[in-house]
Amino acid sequence: MHRIGIIALTIVLASSASAQTDDVAAARAVFEANINAIRQKNLDAYLSYYLHSPLLVKGGPTGFTTGYDDFAKARGPWPESIEASDIHLTELQPGYVYGTYRYRVRYAGGDEHIGISERLFVKTPDGWKIAVTGAIDSPPGTPAPPHALTGATLIDGRGGAPIANANVILRDGKIDCAGTATQCPVPEGVDVTNVSGLWITPGLIDSHVHFSQTGWADGRPDSIDVRAAHPYEIVEADLKNNPERFGKSYVCSGVTSVWDVGGYPWTLRLHERFENNTQVPHVVAAGPLLSTLDHWLNLAAERQFIVLKDAESARNGVRYLAAQHSKAVKVWFIVTKELPVEGSTPAVMAAGEEARKNKLPLIVHATGLAEAKVALRAGANVLVHSVEDLPVDQEFLDLAKKNGTIVIPTLTVIDGYLRMLRGVVDRKAPAVDDPNGCVDRGTLEKTAETATLAPSLVPADRMAARQQRTERFTRVTRANLKTLVNAGIPIATGTDAGNPLTLHGPAIYAEMEAMHVAGMTPMQVIVASTSTASRAMGLDKQVGTIERGKDADLVVVGGDPSLDVANFRKIRYVVRSGVVRNMADLHALAQPQ
Ligand SMILES: [Zn+2]
Repeated sequence: MHRIGIIALTIVLASSASAQTDDVAAARAVFEANINAIRQKNLDAYLSYYLHSPLLVKGGPTGFTTGYDDFAKARGPWPESIEASDIHLTELQPGYVYGTYRYRVRYAGGDEHIGISERLFVKTPDGWKIAVTGAIDSPPGTPAPPHALTGATLIDGRGGAPIANANVILRDGKIDCAGTATQCPVPEGVDVTNVSGLWITPGLIDSHVHFSQTGWADGRPDSIDVRAAHPYEIVEADLKNNPERFGKSYVCSGVTSVWDVGGYPWTLRLHERFENNTQVPHVVAAGPLLSTLDHWLNLAAERQFIVLKDAESARNGVRYLAAQHSKAVKVWFIVTKELPVEGSTPAVMAAGEEARKNKLPLIVHATGLAEAKVALRAGANVLVHSVEDLPVDQEFLDLAKKNGTIVIPTLTVIDGYLRMLRGVVDRKAPAVDDPNGCVDRGTLEKTAETATLAPSLVPADRMAARQQRTERFTRVTRANLKTLVNAGIPIATGTDAGNPLTLHGPAIYAEMEAMHVAGMTPMQVIVASTSTASRAMGLDKQVGTIERGKDADLVVVGGDPSLDVANFRKIRYVVRSGVVRNMADLHALAQPQ
């Protein structure tokens, strides 16, 4: 046993520079070997780097304990993965070196810890040993360690030509530099991930999602009523308690920001709940919807629909949303025989007026041309769906241009309903389009349950009508998208995730592909899925492009998305606020064993 008086350590300032370099290098070698032993789960090697002495100090959040024997006995399980970065060392006096590194470790069950670990290294007759060791998890919101991604082709989200062989330097969770290797050299001491041969784009943005919906019939019992097996109250309580599961599916799929455009009041708290958790996306939420239809789908003591009876109720509804810190006023403009466009117009106009007074964007669900024009006259900043009944006309385009309205086409949500109904009729589980294994097990189980529902739930005439409606919808909405793009109306990507089989996370791939099929170039689809989507949700100062000062939200993909947006399916890394995760990490967090 070596008894070294580290407590009585005095710092000698005059040590020669070269001796200092030698000591730091020796300590660094032990540091790296120590971390490698953790990586290799090699207990003997791991323990060999520590001072075998009762004086060994082990620190943590509650203080420190001493003694090698207890330290060796008290070891917990090995992590499944460990990332050690930002190793930083300094010599205190000859033979004594202090250092820290930033860790991100993942244990079984997707349990990830991020923090800082420290060591004091001392020179002994047996070589350099660790005399003090400690680790403390970082509080949420602690900036990520600096990192550089080098050698990829950079697509910055603004629509310009890609930059080959680019470097992106991340610091404090932000983009510090993005450009050619000459413009953005890698600073000394920054950890590097070489991503040459790959493509970097901004993190994708889904600007139409619903955390109050599950992705299956249980969240929308107005599609197929499964409440006997899945009581709506239980389903909704579960969504409220664990929205992170969908958040992880988004980030795993490359989606680093989402806009929740309608749901229960608790969705308004998602922004603060998610903002400092890099496993889940940034969220902006509109909260409860102002609906022309008094929809029955509410909870006993909570409403997701505020009824728009008249101008007065519209103003009251907007004031309620403003007081709740809603980030937008969403109007659900439903038209039926009993609810004609003209009947609802005064209430929708009043909602628009009151939204402007409260400086809130007006966003409207209006799928018929007539009500969409009323929405535009009411000042709609965003239409969250396509017009699906008729071709958009010049009057529509003029109104949209005047407002600067952004349109979110949601081309594929209708396919999910059709696939679910067909799964019931055919007694066959619908296919799940999840190329990176990001969808949580519970959602996969429900999707499979489709095959076990009674076919009598979907009568033949309903199936035929649905099929017809889907065909017309697809034809009209795609043609309208092309008209809007040609007219220069800005388009943002949104899936309407949460609706049956439009799954939180991977639904974005099919939507982007459908936008391309409708006539947008891949680069137009990329811009719609990044910078324009960030503008729609009012987050463009923070995310949406790869520019100095923006949040470091990125995806790294294995094929050129400016040639084919289907290459977004080939995710290699996702970066959320500077934390770089590879596919193994992302999958383990989203689908824990
Ligand atoms: Zn929606």
